[in-house]
Amino acid sequence: MSTPILSGLAFIGSRRGAKGGAAFQAMNPALAQPLEPIFHTSSLAEVDTAAHLAAQAAPLLASFSGQKKAQLLRKVAQNIEATTAALAARAQLETALPEARCLGEIGRTMGQLKLFADLLEKGEWVDARIETAQPERKPAPKPDHRSMCRPLGPVAVFCASNFPFAYSVAGGDTAAALAAGCPVVVVAHTAHAGTAELMASLVVAAVQELGFPEGTFSMVMGDGRVVGQHLAKHPALRAIGFTGSRAGGKALMDTAAARPVPIPVYAEMSSVNPVILLEEALQSRGEAMVAGLFASCTLGVGQFCTQPGIILLVRSQAAQDFVEKLAASFRSASEGVMLTAGIYQNYQRELAARRQQAGVTVVQSAQASGSAGRVLPALLTVAAPTFLAQPALQAELFGPASLVVWCEDLAQLKQVVRSLEGSLTATLHGTAEEIAQHSELLAQLETLAGRVILNGYPTGVEVSHAIVHGGPYPSLSDGRTTSVGSNAIYRFTRLVCYQSFVDAALPAELQNANPLKITRLVNGQRSSEPVS
Ligand code: NAP
Repeated sequence: MSTPILSGLAFIGSRRGAKGGAAFQAMNPALAQPLEPIFHTSSLAEVDTAAHLAAQAAPLLASFSGQKKAQLLRKVAQNIEATTAALAARAQLETALPEARCLGEIGRTMGQLKLFADLLEKGEWVDARIETAQPERKPAPKPDHRSMCRPLGPVAVFCASNFPFAYSVAGGDTAAALAAGCPVVVVAHTAHAGTAELMASLVVAAVQELGFPEGTFSMVMGDGRVVGQHLAKHPALRAIGFTGSRAGGKALMDTAAARPVPIPVYAEMSSVNPVILLEEALQSRGEAMVAGLFASCTLGVGQFCTQPGIILLVRSQAAQDFVEKLAASFRSASEGVMLTAGIYQNYQRELAARRQQAGVTVVQSAQASGSAGRVLPALLTVAAPTFLAQPALQAELFGPASLVVWCEDLAQLKQVVRSLEGSLTATLHGTAEEIAQHSELLAQLETLAGRVILNGYPTGVEVSHAIVHGGPYPSLSDGRTTSVGSNAIYRFTRLVCYQSFVDAALPAELQNANPLKITRLVNGQRSSEPVS
């Protein structure tokens, strides 16, 4: 497939957006310079059209088989593969992420699309359940009930600044929504509008080539507070997927709740990902843990939702040695370029605020160049009583900064854990004996996070059937779900029960003959046999 040429225009279905809207440019964060071309903000009328097209496409998409939807996902992945070099080159310019990271993320994005395609082809994800009728049952006859997951309807997807591919135009939310059978209207992130346009053109090409309805996919562009908010209020929408700031996610939750017909918002917002290091583990492998934790704290200039923002230790000689070595790593760290001017300013502002906080010390290299967009990693330390008294210290500091919280004893450490907000991950390092002794602490971590990690590091999210990338608020707006992995599909579905249906009117998954040969729950038993 030939590399699309950037025009700066949105996609309203398969048609291009108009040029009339406010102009903006993506920035090269490494050079603080604007990039060509000029992009054009979608008009509110165009947003309405995209939503109407999605509403028109919804019933058709809902009627498509898993095989057909899988073809679309595979075609998008194929188009991405054929355009990898151009995608990576543009994303590097717009994000300052290194080539290897861009290529890795493109691979992950294709992997996610294929994971959902596999799921659709196997077909069992719909959770088909059949309770056959018992007309003779006393005292009341039992009706025939059959249920399964069905698509919610049009979904708005807000792209993430820190994942130009995997959480953006054809990223996890879009793949999950399309897999569920929901049309998608993407709100491009203005920071990587060129990458978004390239990616959108690949999705639209797949939609057209496979003859999917036009409203299967659109991508609008412009200020999230105007274009995105207008879309979020549109009556055709049935759900919202979002990755970004707590303020942005909360604003969308408020908008969705205030609609005449409220809709769910699946917002991944902020997470501090606490890491607890126990004494015997520090004594036995402290050196390796310094290297592992430092790498996790600073990976990708710390711009990961799973960055370990809070490190908890009980005071001891081994803990003191560990923190001194970790501080030495931070002191020798070099600068990195942040993704956007806004994220850079947030990092500097939040770090400055913590510096002002009595009782907080900040360890950093002295090598700051002062160039715009470039920041140094920072290791902060504080005593538990100060941390407990200052809830502001709990908030995510998005970037390569981590806060060591010194606890006097295990009881105080547990008190600190109890005070933390919901997180995507919680990590415990300990020997086998320590882990056996600390089952209560592990149970506490389970209430705090969607993924509990033993003797590992939270960054580097594996996309799989078992991954959970979610957790109590504010890590996710709805902590019952995951935004990564195949289970993410259920966010965009609802259960429908068909009562006393004639066989031919049922979805194939629920028909007597079981034409898809899937395993179903029939009268309480797992079975892939036909139902008589
Ligand atoms: P953001 O400001 O929340 O923006 C994400 C997307 O949502 C953008 O398209 C934005 O549009 C839109 N948006 C923002 N506020 C909105 C609102 N009130 N209504 C509707 N749409 C809205 O996040 P960001 O640009 O990625 O980064 C800013 C900060 O978010 C970071 O410094 C960091 O603190 C946090 N963040 C956290 C994570 C994480 O994984 N935990 C990831 C990314 C960012 P505009 O661009 O037009 O405003």
